[in-house]
Amino acid sequence: MRVTFLGTSGAVPTTQRAPSAVLVNREGERFLFDCGEGTQRQMMRFGTGFDVSHIFVTHLHGDHILGIPGLIQSLDFNDRADPLAIHVPPGARGEMERLVHAGGHRPGYPVRIHEVAPGSVAYDAASFEVRTVETEHRTRSMGYALVEDDRPGRFDRERAEELGVPVGPKFGRLHEGESVELDDGRVIDPEQVVGPPRPGRRLVYTGDTRPVEAVVETAANADLLVHDATFAADEAERARRTGHSTAREAAEVAARAGAKRLALTHVSSRYAGTWERLERDATAAFDGECFVASDGQTVDVPYPE
Ligand SMILES: [Zn+2]
Ligand SMILES: [Zn+2]
Repeated sequence: MRVTFLGTSGAVPTTQRAPSAVLVNREGERFLFDCGEGTQRQMMRFGTGFDVSHIFVTHLHGDHILGIPGLIQSLDFNDRADPLAIHVPPGARGEMERLVHAGGHRPGYPVRIHEVAPGSVAYDAASFEVRTVETEHRTRSMGYALVEDDRPGRFDRERAEELGVPVGPKFGRLHEGESVELDDGRVIDPEQVVGPPRPGRRLVYTGDTRPVEAVVETAANADLLVHDATFAADEAERARRTGHSTAREAAEVAARAGAKRLALTHVSSRYAGTWERLERDATAAFDGECFVASDGQTVDVPYPE
């Protein structure tokens, strides 16, 4: 699983930072989390590929959605035929429809808009799901968590051979959790040769938000938490007033959740040359790996073991 930060600015972009967008490539399937203005050019610049199956929108502020019409129209020029799903908070369908059809455009491929309530599942795939998580901003908003299912435990090949299981298809059946009968009539159960299930990966993207309890819960043991960090600690009052977080507040959420890594994003343009201070604010409150994301930065998210 690879995460590419396409846009890491706050509401107003800078020459170094584009408005919000994060691309996640999970085993070849591409997801966009938010799609600020110019996201399609960032995808070109950073070579992520265009073939996105889902766009997960946190809220309808312009810096998170104005890239959608351009991307949708460019996909048409590329003769796209596959459907595109766009997930939005409750009540946002009408606005999103207008955006999809901006300038009277009619996409030549199916564009499906799904309103999803916070605290539910936006996309239920075979081996993972994308959940929605309640956030607190100045408008209807939510974050997303990509949560993989547990993987089967490790198969102890040596032990299986000791027990007399013949090398072959019975190995596979045991690993998938089935008991098998041997030629001598003995039955071998999977628990005898397969270790405990191993956790999948967990990635949380908050979008714009105050620090909230729901994110702490959803980001429990997360492999990567991407959190709003619009302001430095000395602007805590402004963060509260505008429905954002300081880097320090983001770090406190990560620490309480026990997240492994924290990416700070949505950096206010006021820190154009001084963003390192956000990193300093955060490392004071969070022991794990922590960084201010920059446009074009890619991060691999490996399995926990
Ligand atoms: Zn924003
Ligand atoms: Zn916003």
